[in-house]
Amino acid sequence: MALDLVLLGPPGSGKGTQAARLTDKYRLPAIATGDILRAEVEAGTPLGQRIRSYLDRGELVPDQLVVDIIRQRLSQPDTEAGFILDGFPRTLPQAQALDAMLAELQRPLDAVLYLETDRQSLLDRLGQRHRQDDRADIADHRIDVFLEQTAPLIGYYRDEGKLRLIDGAQPTEAVAAAIDDVIRPLVGAAQARNPRPTSS
Ligand code: AMP
Repeated sequence: MALDLVLLGPPGSGKGTQAARLTDKYRLPAIATGDILRAEVEAGTPLGQRIRSYLDRGELVPDQLVVDIIRQRLSQPDTEAGFILDGFPRTLPQAQALDAMLAELQRPLDAVLYLETDRQSLLDRLGQRHRQDDRADIADHRIDVFLEQTAPLIGYYRDEGKLRLIDGAQPTEAVAAAIDDVIRPLVGAAQARNPRPTSS
């Protein structure tokens, strides 16, 4: 089966937590652009230093940079059975680039799960983390960046018929159950397209 998913949601909406769970459950690689970018910063390369200036301010890095990262990552064989994108796409040009890439590979997205969460829940959760860019003022700005640059993707994917709304303000387990309800029929459809005995 190939199950291609996007987790969409503001910072603190639980994308990383849910992506990790989906990876365990469905054996699909989670691809988190934030993690990839932070690793580049940690490596201390000139590119990493450039990236850091965006991360530290809570701004998005340029589209081309993340699109190249994703193109390269999706060419790796472990994504053949599917993938979970966490934190990408975050702008309309990124979403369009992703659609073009996947059209070339003849494997359109199966669903975009939007973890809808109110601002206060987000700030509460980000306040419990210890990442540099989770500092209150930067976290607040990242939510604004989400509303300005990423929220338009909600309409974009609704128009494509891909959007699935999940109440992300619920406790983690309830969010996980809501995601499972959405994914179950997709797994069935993916298996029907590409029948192969599975252990689960
Ligand atoms: P995250 O770990 O997803 O919260 O991302 C942390 C930071 O990495 C963001 O605040 C952005 O600066 C940067 N970033 C991650 N993904 C993207 C993306 N798709 N486009 C642009 N910037 C990104």
